[in-house]
Amino acid sequence: VSSADAEAILRRLRDRGGRATKTRRATIEVLLNARRVHLTSEEIIKRVQLEHPDVAESTVYRQLAALEDLGVVEHVHLGHGPSTYHLSGEAHQHLVCQRCGKLVEVPDSEFSGLANRIETAYGFHIRPRHFAILGECRSCARTAARGRAAKAD
Ligand SMILES: [Zn+2]
Ligand SMILES: [Zn+2]
Ligand SMILES: [Zn+2]
Repeated sequence: VSSADAEAILRRLRDRGGRATKTRRATIEVLLNARRVHLTSEEIIKRVQLEHPDVAESTVYRQLAALEDLGVVEHVHLGHGPSTYHLSGEAHQHLVCQRCGKLVEVPDSEFSGLANRIETAYGFHIRPRHFAILGECRSCARTAARGRAAKAD
């Protein structure tokens, strides 16, 4: 990860009136380094503290909330566990298999047709990104179908 990425995000943060503190910078770097891995706040704290052992847990929590308020970071609920964090620029929709936990990431644009139809029909603007969409992956659906077929025999 280039520090240019972190700098660009910190610049966006300053444009929105936020200050680039050490903890904020460290938190953003952890999220940049995680790439596609979904980190909970606990995991982010552990990683920040590896580099900066003097940073308190509560400070990282506070900074995550502040970064969310500034629109730089957002969280998503992937299932029953704790929420996970993303940089806003990398946000996307999540599909999670309820049987095996497999995670599939899809671009927001996949939902734009549905979003438009719901907006027109119900006057409601959906924001599906905040929660994962639960269902069944292809291989679990096949296994389940085989199980049903075996019972029917
Ligand atoms: Zn939430
Ligand atoms: Zn599955
Ligand atoms: Zn994701």
